[in-house]
Amino acid sequence: MKIAFVGLGNMGGPMASNLVAAGHQVVGFDPATALPEGVDSAPDAAAAARDAEVVISMLPNGQILRSVAAEVIPAMQAGAVFCDCSTVDVDSAKAVAQQAGDAGLGFLDAPVSGGTGGATNGTLTFMVGGDDAAFETVTPLFDIMGQKAVHCGAAGAGQSAKICNNMILGVTMIATCEAFALADKLGLDRAKMFDVVSTSSGQSWSMNTYCPAPGVGPQSPADNGYKPGFAADLMLKDLRLSQQAAESADADTPMGALAAALYTRFVEEEDGKGRDFSAMLPRFEARGRG
Ligand code: NAD
Repeated sequence: MKIAFVGLGNMGGPMASNLVAAGHQVVGFDPATALPEGVDSAPDAAAAARDAEVVISMLPNGQILRSVAAEVIPAMQAGAVFCDCSTVDVDSAKAVAQQAGDAGLGFLDAPVSGGTGGATNGTLTFMVGGDDAAFETVTPLFDIMGQKAVHCGAAGAGQSAKICNNMILGVTMIATCEAFALADKLGLDRAKMFDVVSTSSGQSWSMNTYCPAPGVGPQSPADNGYKPGFAADLMLKDLRLSQQAAESADADTPMGALAAALYTRFVEEEDGKGRDFSAMLPRFEARGRG
């Protein structure tokens, strides 16, 4: 397949490399990052998109997606599919889907989970919004870049699934960290705490798979000085997107709002910037109730 790839940073670079390794012809554009080996360089996003059957983007935010879409959509050939894999606000995904549809193009919002490790190893999970025909066209590419693609519904459904999942993740990570800090103060051994909770009703991905306590449970960023992993800054981005969506949909999300407020403080005022999002544990450990 002829593929254009726009935005080849930490995630997009290895995703494009996997497409090249599978034998696809990939033309890329990124204003700031060197393209991986085997990806042909285009002078701008429109030039990359011109002959492509599928245009994939992996960009920082919704505003940049909207500006890239404004360049790329008029350049694309009729019937081609624009597949945005960035994590962006639901409204931007829907707006770009509308523009693409008006121009006779397919559009998918297909954010991912799995991080840079998943991008490199081709084991991402894609959560996808858009119509059946576009999903069918891009499915062989999802199969190369990932291990699973869930078609969640119409345009915007992929972003909706992503931010709901990550809102649960942010809340459960905070709950897990504050519970460990309480257990410490009650004199409970962390290994015993893990043993009980990971097999009881307090279990979650945050506890069982990504345990925030060093030396306890499976290997996680806690065992590597809280080097990300999944950075607190990125969790904050996703929590803000969930609150933006909740406002727009008039949904009551008090725990999500509190998680967004705590990660805002952690990243902007405390020492959370650049650390893994599970570094909430040393934060709670160092505090009392005041
Ligand atoms: P990144 O900053 O490494 O990459 C983004 C790339 O987009 C950069 O190389 C940048 O130069 C490029 N870019 C910016 N403006 C552009 C433009 N106008 N045209 C073309 N390229 C442009 O970020 P990343 O970690 O690769 O994340 C990309 C997306 O994936 C984000 O939306 C992020 O939330 C999401 N995501 C990241 C992770 C992760 O672990 N890094 C996990 C899941 C989802």
